[in-house]
This record gives sequence, C-alpha cells and structure tokens, in this order.
Amino acid sequence: MNNNDTRKVVLVGAGLVGMSYAYALVNQGGCDELVLIDLDYNKAEGEAMDLSHGLAYAPKDMKIYAGDYKDCHNAGLVVIAAGANQKDGETRLDLLNKNAKIIKSIVEKIMNSGFKGILLMTTNPVDIMTYVAYKYSKLPHRQVFGSGTSLDSARLRYLLSNYLNIDSKNVHAYIVGEHGDSEFPLWSNASIGIKPLLDVINEHNEFNFADLEHIYVDVRDAAYKIIEKKKSTYYGIGMALCHITKAIFNDSNSIIPVSVYVENYYGVDKMYIGMPAIINRQGIREVLKIHMNKVDQDRFKNSGDILKEFINKMDI
Ligand code: NAD
Repeated sequence: MNNNDTRKVVLVGAGLVGMSYAYALVNQGGCDELVLIDLDYNKAEGEAMDLSHGLAYAPKDMKIYAGDYKDCHNAGLVVIAAGANQKDGETRLDLLNKNAKIIKSIVEKIMNSGFKGILLMTTNPVDIMTYVAYKYSKLPHRQVFGSGTSLDSARLRYLLSNYLNIDSKNVHAYIVGEHGDSEFPLWSNASIGIKPLLDVINEHNEFNFADLEHIYVDVRDAAYKIIEKKKSTYYGIGMALCHITKAIFNDSNSIIPVSVYVENYYGVDKMYIGMPAIINRQGIREVLKIHMNKVDQDRFKNSGDILKEFINKMDI
C-alpha cells in the first residue's frame, strides 16, 4: 500500500540540486514535512535551520529537520539527489558506476525503514539510476520514476516561447528519450495552443525549421554550457522536482515527461526512459502512448539502445 495520506518528503542529498528543490518546495508550499538526509549530517542540519528561518515568509507552514533513514517509513515521497556530480567534460554516462553503488546502498537503507511510498530519482545518469532504484527497491514500477526529461522539456518550452513570442504555458512540446546526449524533441507532436508547431513554422515567414534544429541543440547541450560557466546546474531541476512533487501530493493527474518504466514501447523494453506520463498520488497513472513518425521511432530506439548498453555494462 502507498503511504498516500502523508505529504511528507524525505530528501536524500542536501547538495546544490537537493537544496534548490527544498527551497522551491518551501516557497511553493509543496509539502507539510521535509526531512533532509546527507552523508554530512551537519550540512543537513544547517540547511534545515536556514530554510526553517524563512518559514514566516512562506505560503504555508512546514516541518523541516535533518533526519535519518528511519524517517522514510511513513514518507509519501523520497527524493534522491545524492551522489557525485557531472564534472566539466564528463558525460552523464561516465558517472554510471560511481553513482550506481551509492544509489544501491541508499535504496537498501530506505527500504529497510519499511518505506511504501513513491521514490523519485534525480541523480545522474538519471534513467539508469532510476532503473537501479527500481531493481533494489522492488517497489511497483508506478512508484519509482526519475526526473528524466522534465528539465529538458522545460528548457525547450522556454526557448520556443522566446522564439515564437508565446507564453511558455501554451507551448506543448516534449523532449523524450535519455536525459542526455541522445534525447530529442517530438516536433511532430508539439503544439502551440491547439495548433501543430510545424504548421506555425510553415505559415510564418519569420520562422524556419533550421532554427528549430538550433533550439534542439541548445536544449541538448544546455547542461554542458552551464557547467562550463558555473560548474553545475541546480535551479531548473529544483523547480522541475517541485512541480513533480505537487503533481503527486495534489493528485493532479498532470502530464510531465519523466523517466518511466516502459515495456515494448517502439522497441524499448523493460527499462526506464524519458516519456510524458500522467502523474498523481499513486505515482505513474499511465505512460502516454504517442504516435511517432519513423524518424522519431528510430531516434527513440537508438536512445533506448544506448541506455541498455550501459545497463548491461554496469558492475552492480
Ligand atoms: P552536490 O555535490 O552539490 O550534492 C550531492 C550531495 O549528496 C552532497 O551533499 C553529498 O554529501 C551527498 N551525498 C553523497 N553521497 C551520499 C550518500 N551516500 N548518502 C547521502 N548523501 C550523499 O551535487 P548536486 O549538484 O546537488 O548534484 C546531485 C546529483 O544530481 C548529481 O548526480 C547530478 O548529476 C544530478 N543532477 C541531475 C539533474 C537532472 O536533470 N536529472 C540536473 C542537475 C544535476
């Protein structure tokens, strides 16, 4: 049974990503209780104190404290943002073996508490780490998922919104596949309001398809550019995690592209990969079955093959 009556989040990893998420949660009133766990207990405690001191100015009250894995037993959601970070010049897949061992040991400790809630992964490479979490938690796959391409899709919506001069809330466009170099946009499924994006481009002289390709490349390489300039990325992912958390606790049935377990999906089988899914208090209600053209099908299969190869190479 899911612990779906508690709006309690346990966050494992009080680093830059974890604390950006925590800060977004406090500012948006995303939960009732927030427990911080980190290898460095002092850091978790300091962060909990600092965040709590802003509560007087937050939209709602919240219990925030540093804790340990026992606190997971009645949590509705555990978010994992612990692990080594992507270094300059390092791909997300380089991080694989280092983080897989960390995630396995963290998940075992979470499960030993009697945890029955939803497990949300953000440690990179996120699709593979979500698979590791699923494998060692033995929770149903609807209760284990990763941030996947939620951040990448937000980046895409932002850039398209600037290009077309349309509110990003009316830009319905998704990046799917691996959260990494083989991800890609589903252009033929994208719409601006109710109008297909490709029609909008065709009908306006000032827009063209070459620009769409540049936008895609900017989205795909955004993390590399930010890391080059400020060493790591964290605000965007913090807000994406907060958005997912609210979809869970508000039982909102929101469509968000996340790393989900798919079976026989355009040739990608029994693994985690980025796809839009309906999210509610039970976790993943449904992975959207999208009609992809042949080019997108091939790109999706390629992305799945890359992830599969690394899963097979993993030494845990
Ligand atoms: P960070 O170094 O700032 O923080 C990591 C934290 O994890 C540290 O506080 C560290 O003490 C803690 N930690 C390490 N091992 C631990 C363990 N075994 N148990 C408990 N805590 C542990 O790193 P960051 O910038 O916050 O990044 C965290 C992860 O998020 C990285 O894997 C990074 O690649 C990933 N990330 C993902 C996305 C995404 O879109 N999925 C975006 C940005 C970063």
